[in-house]
Amino acid sequence: MSYRHGKIVPPSGTKYCQIAVVGARPGQDEVDSGRPFSGPSGDLLWRLFGVNRSECYVTNVRKDYSDTHSVPTVGEIDEVLPSLRDELNSTTATLFVAVGAQALYALANKSSIEQWRGSIVPSTLLPGRKVLGIYHTAHALREWPITYIIERDLRKARREALTPDINYPTRTFTIDADLGTTVEYLDGLGDPISVDIETVGLETPACVGISDSAERAICIPFIGGRLTASELAYVWRRLHNVFQ
Ligand code: URA
Repeated sequence: MSYRHGKIVPPSGTKYCQIAVVGARPGQDEVDSGRPFSGPSGDLLWRLFGVNRSECYVTNVRKDYSDTHSVPTVGEIDEVLPSLRDELNSTTATLFVAVGAQALYALANKSSIEQWRGSIVPSTLLPGRKVLGIYHTAHALREWPITYIIERDLRKARREALTPDINYPTRTFTIDADLGTTVEYLDGLGDPISVDIETVGLETPACVGISDSAERAICIPFIGGRLTASELAYVWRRLHNVFQ
């Protein structure tokens, strides 16, 4: 065991903040400096965030360094949830930025960072506060393209911290509509459009998804849907016009 094992790195920053940044567990650099997120992954985080760390509350789910579990186990996280709740409750943060999967699990009980990063979700640990999960910046140090996703998510964090409300966007998904609705949708499409074509094998279309805005999308099934073969042939010709 190293001399660092079990050493505690206390939170830093201010409790009178809009944003609390929450990581998983301090690394060696943090033990040496005595501050969370002060090593290479922290440097990248603050650079991408564009927010001064002294304006935030900065902490970790587990405050203790571990030689054996740099990523805390579920058991290690669950053990400290009551004290983490009290700690974060003493801050004025409207938004918790969960850095990595373990922090997202602790704050919002979500088990997939891939699925939830960049989304605003209610905190299950502290109901009334909101959480935005990001990929851990340590991950970006190993896989540089992740940096762009983190940067984008942190831009959203800055916007979201301005209000405690969770405003879910209103989205309309039209799925397996009748012929009239489908054609009307295709006729009303703006420009540009996004298209996703699912196929069975290489050449048989199973369904076509189209959207011209973040607010609406249509999914037209070519297999197992409600349209007859002749209606599908008609829709296919209309799609041909759309794509031209
Ligand atoms: N990774 C974390 O999760 N927390 C730190 O403080 C540093 C690196």
